[in-house]
Parts: sequence; C-alpha cells; structure tokens
Amino acid sequence: MALITNIQHFLDEDGSLAELNFESIELLAFLTAIIESASIAYERPVSLASVNCRKCDGEIEVWVDPDSHIIGWECLECGEEGSISNWEGTQWDKRDDVRH
Ligand SMILES: [Zn+2]
Repeated sequence: MALITNIQHFLDEDGSLAELNFESIELLAFLTAIIESASIAYERPVSLASVNCRKCDGEIEVWVDPDSHIIGWECLECGEEGSISNWEGTQWDKRDDVRH
C-alpha cells in the first residue's frame, strides 16, 4: 500500500511542528529523513535514503520527480512505497540555496 503524505499536515501554519501523537512523531522522523536524503541528492535520478524501511528494515530508494517535485520512495526489499508532497522550503529541504 502506498503511503501518500503531504508534509504540511505535520506543521502548523507558521511552519513549526504541530502537536503530534507518538505514532505521528515516529512517522514524521521517517518522512523527514527521506526528504533530507532526496533533497540533498536532488539532481540525481535516484539515491538511497539515510533511513531504512519501517516494515522490513530494507534499504529505501528516494527520488524527486522533476516535474511535480514530489518525492517518491520505495523499499528495495518489501516494495513498501510512498510519496511526499509540499516539502519544499521546509526545514528538511537541503537543496543548495544558491542555485534556486
Ligand atoms: Zn521494506
């Protein structure tokens, strides 16, 4: 099952973290690590995330769609996958500022 997430749902209007329950905090830590990995390697077609799969601990591939800028990720072991939208400009956006 694909995990479709909009990172803004974890944030308050001013961009700070919303109050989250434990499950959401855990998920957020996973998603933000993927955002950092994908945005650092923004110009590469695909790279490995700094976190492993929450289900099977397998390696996760991440990429940024060049048109929509939506981050996609997929576990290489179990096929768990998802997407993250609206991550640009958040504190986890690690793209080189000079270039944009
Ligand atoms: Zn997996």
